[in-house]
Amino acid sequence: MLKINNLHASIDGKEILKGLNLEVKAGEVHAIMGPNGAGKSTLANILAGREEYEITEGSVDFDGTDLLEMATEDRAREGLFLAFQYPVEIPGVSNVNFLRTALNEIKEYRGEPQISAKDFMALVKEKSAIVELDAKLASRSVNEGFSGGEKKRNEIFQMAMLDPKLAILDETDSGLDIDALRIVANGVNKLKSDKNATIVITHYQRLLDYIVPDFVHVLYNGQIVKSGPKELALELEEKGYDWIKAEFAQ
Ligand code: ADP
Ligand code: MG
Ligand code: MG
Repeated sequence: MLKINNLHASIDGKEILKGLNLEVKAGEVHAIMGPNGAGKSTLANILAGREEYEITEGSVDFDGTDLLEMATEDRAREGLFLAFQYPVEIPGVSNVNFLRTALNEIKEYRGEPQISAKDFMALVKEKSAIVELDAKLASRSVNEGFSGGEKKRNEIFQMAMLDPKLAILDETDSGLDIDALRIVANGVNKLKSDKNATIVITHYQRLLDYIVPDFVHVLYNGQIVKSGPKELALELEEKGYDWIKAEFAQ
């Protein structure tokens, strides 16, 4: 589904990704861990199509197409979804209108008919229940006045509504108490299928008690320097990142 080959990327002339390789197949959950500043959010942003980065080398293939050549909104239409590390508030735009517009864009792109108001509301009810999001929040402005935990749950609600092929969750666990963490993780687990894939970016191991990854990767200094089974996350939790830094410091 996703093949990243030797990706190099800079911002303001500073190289952040320095030859990153990653392959994700349908049905898989990959966790990307790494110290602050390693480039995790940069990778997520580049995949989603944020424009301020300069790609200097490498390629990204998404389901047989050159992802880096695609416009941001086409990536979304093709089924790429990013849950933000810091969800933004959009005053004046209701959550439901936002999602109905997004959903209908995807349907139009696939040549499917627009969703009826009745079917849409039924979908909202079903999917908000997955993340135990209060139905009232669905009709409020996007994230406006939501608590930190509600914002993160709203990201997963959006993901559930849009049913992406590839979901990237950028530190969706940060700032969550243990109950919200479990709710978010359960939501992700319920949405898992053999047709979609998830990349979970996290700084801490505890999320991976609930979302069990098929592979764990360590991103350090702009590269994936280590990959392994889920036990690698436990090793990182126990030993921290210093041994990685010591091993890979140039
Ligand atoms: P992580 O998500 O792993 O904590 P980031 O991808 O956010 O790391 O950041 C990687 C590096 O890129 C950091 O050194 C950060 O300061 C730098 N960086 C990120 N965004 C910008 C920007 N807009 N301008 C300059 N440097 C940036
Ligand atoms: Mg960070
Ligand atoms: Mg980050």
